[in-house]
Amino acid sequence: MSVDDLRSPSRTRIALIEDEPDIASLLAAFLRKEGYAVDHFPEANRFFLALQKSRPDLLLLDLMLPDADGFEICKALKKNESWSRIPIIIMTAKAEESDKILGLELGADDYVTKPFSFKEMAARIKAVLRRSEGPELAKSIEVGGVLRIDLEKFEVRVGGQPVNLTSTEFKILSFLAARKGRVLTRDQILDHVWGDEKIVLDRTVDVHIRNLREKLGPAAAFVKNLRGVGYKVEE
Ligand code: CA
Repeated sequence: MSVDDLRSPSRTRIALIEDEPDIASLLAAFLRKEGYAVDHFPEANRFFLALQKSRPDLLLLDLMLPDADGFEICKALKKNESWSRIPIIIMTAKAEESDKILGLELGADDYVTKPFSFKEMAARIKAVLRRSEGPELAKSIEVGGVLRIDLEKFEVRVGGQPVNLTSTEFKILSFLAARKGRVLTRDQILDHVWGDEKIVLDRTVDVHIRNLREKLGPAAAFVKNLRGVGYKVEE
């Protein structure tokens, strides 16, 4: 029995699904040193068995596993009400953009491309955990000390000056800003803003973002475009 079997409710539990033993043991050791409780699963099967008993606070998910495809795991979790809010960071050796997009569309919160530094991983984990604490419930969001979004009054200010946004621009901005640092695909933005009335094209998002940026003036730099992937708000 390892130290991690003595469950302490105050410690953040990370489930690590990774079939490469070297990466898994080094990463797990590093994360434990950082103060996390880590459960390692070399395959999806065992993870799902453990999931019936307890829910991790975050999942680090390798995409290529002996018994499953990481994307399938992502999908299965997001479909289940009690598991859908578990934040997921995908670890992938595939750097293709289509994989990143698919991962994000399936609801992963972030992805890291192998090989990655453990320090970088630690920073991503912290950011994802912070975001999962319910930023959507906040009444206002501040970005870079300059941009302020009041979610109750539907007001946006840049350097204290009010900015007049259309309701669509406001929705897009607050959607991105509430998930600061996270890349959202055009499809996710379309879904959020237009929902079922989604008869608009991907390009529509680009047009609204262009207008939004123009209105934001000096704060426009916080709205970033990741070519071929989507958009994010970052300080
Ligand atoms: Ca693998």
